[in-house]
Amino acid sequence: MNSPPKHRSINPIRWALHWQILLGMIAGSTIGLALNFAASTRVSEMRDGLPSGVMEAVVDESSERTVVQYTRDDGEVIRYVVASLAGDDAGGGSVRSFEDLAERDATAAVIADSAATPARRIGAAAKRLGDLFLRMLKMVAVPLIIASLLTGILNLGTGAGVGRMFRRTVLYYLTTSMMAITTGLVVVNIVRPGLGGAAAGGAGAGEVHAAKPLGTVLFEQVEAMIPANVAAAVVEPNFLSIIAFTILFAVFALRCGEAVASKVAAASSVVLEVLMRMTMAIIHLAPLGVFFLMLAVTATQGPGVFVALSWYVLAVAAALAIHAFITLPIILRLVAKRSPTGYAAAMSPALLTAFSSASSNGTLPLTMTAVSERAGVSNRTGSFVLPLGATINMDGTALYEVVAVLFIAQMHFGVNLPLSAQIIVALTALLASVGAAGIPHAGLVMMAIILQAVGLPAELQGVILAVDRVLDMGRTAVNVWSDSCGCAVVERLGLGDDAAVTDPPAAAAAV
Ligand code: ASP
Repeated sequence: MNSPPKHRSINPIRWALHWQILLGMIAGSTIGLALNFAASTRVSEMRDGLPSGVMEAVVDESSERTVVQYTRDDGEVIRYVVASLAGDDAGGGSVRSFEDLAERDATAAVIADSAATPARRIGAAAKRLGDLFLRMLKMVAVPLIIASLLTGILNLGTGAGVGRMFRRTVLYYLTTSMMAITTGLVVVNIVRPGLGGAAAGGAGAGEVHAAKPLGTVLFEQVEAMIPANVAAAVVEPNFLSIIAFTILFAVFALRCGEAVASKVAAASSVVLEVLMRMTMAIIHLAPLGVFFLMLAVTATQGPGVFVALSWYVLAVAAALAIHAFITLPIILRLVAKRSPTGYAAAMSPALLTAFSSASSNGTLPLTMTAVSERAGVSNRTGSFVLPLGATINMDGTALYEVVAVLFIAQMHFGVNLPLSAQIIVALTALLASVGAAGIPHAGLVMMAIILQAVGLPAELQGVILAVDRVLDMGRTAVNVWSDSCGCAVVERLGLGDDAAVTDPPAAAAAV
C-alpha cells in the first residue's frame, strides 16, 4: 500500500488571513454602500404626482449600451435608450434628447443625466480589479483537478483485494454525495435565498435557458464525459470531460501495474504539490479580491445583497447540518452498526481541526490516526478509504456547490432554475466535488464548472466570495465526517473477506 498523499501543514497565518478577508469585506462594502446611497439611483417620490419607483442607468446586455431603467414600485420595468448616450431604439423605446425623455416620462428624465454616476464608474473599475482574483482562481482550476484526481486515485496502489474495497468505497462515496446534493437541492428550493435578495438588489438581468427534456439533458452529460478531443476539452475548458478522462487515465494506469502506476503517481504528486502552493498563494490575495468585488457589488446593487447573503449562509448551514446530524448518523447506525455519538466523539480531534483549518488534506494525518486509534477501524481500511476520500469524497462541498450555484442563478435570473437545469447542477456538482482538492476554498475554484454548465458567467461568484471562508469551515468538517463514517461502513460491508471490525477502544467511548 502506498503512503497517503503528502499533506500540507496548517499554515500559522491562516487565521490572520481569515480576519483579513473579513476586513476586506467590511471595507469594500462600506465604501460601496456609501457610493450606492450617494450617487446611483433616484427615487421618483422626489417628484410630486409621479408613480414611485427606482431609476438607474444600466448597461443593456444585448446592445451593451447605457440605458435608463425605470423600475416602478408596481414591478413594471421600462428601459429607455437616451440617444445622446447610446444611439437608437432598444427595449422600452428611444429618446433623442433629455427634453424628449422628460416629455415621455418625467421620472425617467431625473436619472438620464446620471448615466455614468460615480457609483457605476467606480463599481465597474473595482469589478475589473476583483475579476483579476477570480481569473487567478480559474487559472489553477484545470491543472489542480487533474493533479489532485490522479494523485488521489493512484495512491490506492494495486495490491490484492483492492478492487473489492475500491468498489465498496466508491459506492459509499457516490451514495452519500448524492444524498448531500439532494439535501442541498431541497433546502435551496425551500429557502430560495436568491429570490428575496434579487427583489431587494435589483438584479435579474438574465434569461433562464429553455427547459429541455430530462432524457436529453442526461444524455448530453454522458456525451460531455466522452471528449472527442481531450486537448480541446482542456482548452475550452470542459470540466466534465476533463474529470471523466482523468479518472479513466488513473484507473488504467493502475491496471498497467505497479511499475507504471508509481511513475505516474510520483509525477502527479509533485505537480500537485506545486499547484497547491500556487493556489494557497492566490488565496492569500483573497482579502484584496473580496474588497474590490464587494465594493463593486454593493456600489451597484445596494444593501439588498446582504439580505440575500444572510439567507444564503443560512441555507448552506441548514443543509450541512441535516447531512451531518441526520443523514450520516443514520447510515452509521444502520449500515455500520456504530453509535453515531460515540463515533463522532472518537473523531472529534479530526473534525475540529477540519473545521478550523478548512482543509481535508491538512487534516488527513489526524483523521487517519483518530479512525484507527480512537474509533477502532482497521488501519488497512483507514489507509485506503481516507486518502482517497480526502480528494474525491466531499459531501459538504457537493452540497455547497448546489446551494451556491442555485442561489447565484436565483439572484441572476430572478426565478428558480427549471428542474432540468437543476439536474445538470446536481450532476456537475457531484463531479466538481470529486475533482476539488482538499484545500481551503477549493470548492470556490470548482464552481466555474457548474456555472458554465448552466450558462452563468463565472463573475457572479463575486457576491458569495465574502462569506466563503466560514462556509468552507463547515463543509470541510462535513467532508471529513463523511470520510470517517465511510471507514466504518466499508469495514462493516467487508466483514468476512477483508478485515474484522474491532470495537472502539474504551478510551474513545469516554471522550
Ligand atoms: N476546503 C474543502 C476541503 O478541504 C474543499 C472545499 O473548498 O470545499 O475539504
